[in-house]
Amino acid sequence: MEDNNLIFKTIKQKAIEEHIPIIMDDTLKVMAEILKEKRPNRILEIGTAVGYSAICFSQYLSEGGVIDTIERDEERIVEAKENIKKMNLQNKINIYEGDAVDILPTLNEKYDVVFIDAAKGKYPFFLKEALRMLKKQGIIFADNILYKGYVMSDYNKHKQRTAVRNLREYIKEITENSNLETEILEVGDGLAVSKLIK
Ligand code: SAH
Ligand code: MG
Repeated sequence: MEDNNLIFKTIKQKAIEEHIPIIMDDTLKVMAEILKEKRPNRILEIGTAVGYSAICFSQYLSEGGVIDTIERDEERIVEAKENIKKMNLQNKINIYEGDAVDILPTLNEKYDVVFIDAAKGKYPFFLKEALRMLKKQGIIFADNILYKGYVMSDYNKHKQRTAVRNLREYIKEITENSNLETEILEVGDGLAVSKLIK
């Protein structure tokens, strides 16, 4: 156990040094509280990076639970696989290699939790796919939803405006969807939490 702890810390440290945008501590804390209560059996993650968040979430899975996670960057996939192996989590974390835009439509699982943490310009598409596969009472988390404050400001001229437009569209859709109960939290870079109430 001591050993695993040290390996985990090294994985986190290395990700930070490599400027990989891993989930922020305060965001993780909020999610952990919800996951502890929910004990999901199936989690879908869009955006694995080096596996840090998936490794964190794996401790909240129910018995026999699995995380499916999607990543398109080849170097990150290699590192994620190494990290998952070091943590001995190969039986709990399954990586789909490729673009989530291509992979998601091929999936037909049902998930208790979906974590959206990839290309911001694709959030509305990811939402549509998440809703298609979400179980009753399921939860969709979307990270970086406030994107450094751009999303809630009226400044539209920076180079990230496509991302900002799509994040705003995502927020509009989750708040207008009467099947969802949504909270937008100002933790980290912004976290949207949407529960399917029907
Ligand atoms: N969830 C990770 C961080 C993910 S960073 C953690 O908290 O530890 C976002 C990742 O999404 C990047 O590694 C990027 O390569 C990947 N990504 C972005 N757009 C994608 C897409 N369309 N399909 C698959 N992966 C994507
Ligand atoms: Mg993120």
